[in-house]
Amino acid sequence: MFEHDIDDLKDKGLLRRILDRQGSGEGEAFPSATRIKIGDVEYINFSSNDYLGLASSPALAAAAIDSLEKFPFGAGASRLLSGGTELHRSLEEKIASFKGTQSALLFNSGYHANIGSIPALAGEGDVIFSDELNHASIIDGCRLSSARRIIYRHRDMEHLASLLESVEGARKLVITDTVFSMDGDIAPVDKVVSLCSKSPDTLLFLDDAHGTGVLGNGRGALAHFNMKPESWIIQMGTLSKALGSFGAFIAASRDITDWLTNTSRGLIYSTALPSCVVAACNAAIDIVENNAALTDKLWRNQKRAVAGIKMAGFEIVSDETPIIAVLVGDINATAALAQELKQRGIYAPAIRPPTVKNARIRVTVSAAHTDEDIDALVSAFKESNTSED
Ligand SMILES: *Cc1c(COP(=O)(O)O)cnc(C)c1O
Repeated sequence: MFEHDIDDLKDKGLLRRILDRQGSGEGEAFPSATRIKIGDVEYINFSSNDYLGLASSPALAAAAIDSLEKFPFGAGASRLLSGGTELHRSLEEKIASFKGTQSALLFNSGYHANIGSIPALAGEGDVIFSDELNHASIIDGCRLSSARRIIYRHRDMEHLASLLESVEGARKLVITDTVFSMDGDIAPVDKVVSLCSKSPDTLLFLDDAHGTGVLGNGRGALAHFNMKPESWIIQMGTLSKALGSFGAFIAASRDITDWLTNTSRGLIYSTALPSCVVAACNAAIDIVENNAALTDKLWRNQKRAVAGIKMAGFEIVSDETPIIAVLVGDINATAALAQELKQRGIYAPAIRPPTVKNARIRVTVSAAHTDEDIDALVSAFKESNTSED
């Protein structure tokens, strides 16, 4: 049925395949946070969003195993049909206290949280203002909403201000990624908050998927900008990236979470997270709250990688976060460089259209990388660059 379409993708160099990693074999060490084995070859992994190395933390695994002695593996039903457990409730309380909000509500993934909440927060007669580089799950959430959508230029506060002023008498919802997932730059959250605070009847939705566990000592973008939660600010965060587990949350005022509990279809019509996943999330937040050294290490690695890649002669989109987008040229040049890195033991894949407008190698750095890992990354870039001239 789709043969021609697939051939077309192939011709354009855009056909993607899923590559699954192998597990560690018998007698090998506990799953590594920084190594990935594909097709029997081991690489240093620079493609994961596991920014703190928690995905392979024995503490998370132990919490998950422990929970299975008290609760079933599967939740069996949605939260509203009592699929949740005491662990779900305590995780929500922990997240609310971590984020300094009145309340928090769990979702099955960041994708669910966005497509489930955005239509519940903005509907008929309302207006959504969305950054042009917002994540696909936000775009899909906006598509599912009956609200009018207005796209503002990437991080352009003058544009956002003039658009907000141009709309009167409607409820407004401003939505932005805090860390843009493909460019790695940070939204000017302080300025967005200030604009929203001056605009009547305006809610702000922050997608902190890559800020959670990374910015503001792990507390996210608002904390990074030294700002406090407000009743009109909705902070979405994922448990699947820096927190090393799975799922997502919305931290907000009690009114907002009560409203979402009653109207968010992604929450109401989907089975609750398994308790073992929730138990691991609980352990992850404890670790982030009590180990500032972990986020410090992440940022030290980030600086080492950014400096090295620049020294190797490459242009990067932004040096602000552990997401380092390296611009190499067109799709073919980018794919070729990714292949060269791979031959040098570095796994940092090319990201191509339609995920991004311009192809790039997306390097993500973790606290779990050693100095030697980062240096190997930098050498691989350096060698690939000279071999190209
Ligand atoms: C990854 C991501 C999501 C989706 O989160 P999942 O938990 O992986 O579904 C949402 N928003 C942004 C900005 C992301 O990067």
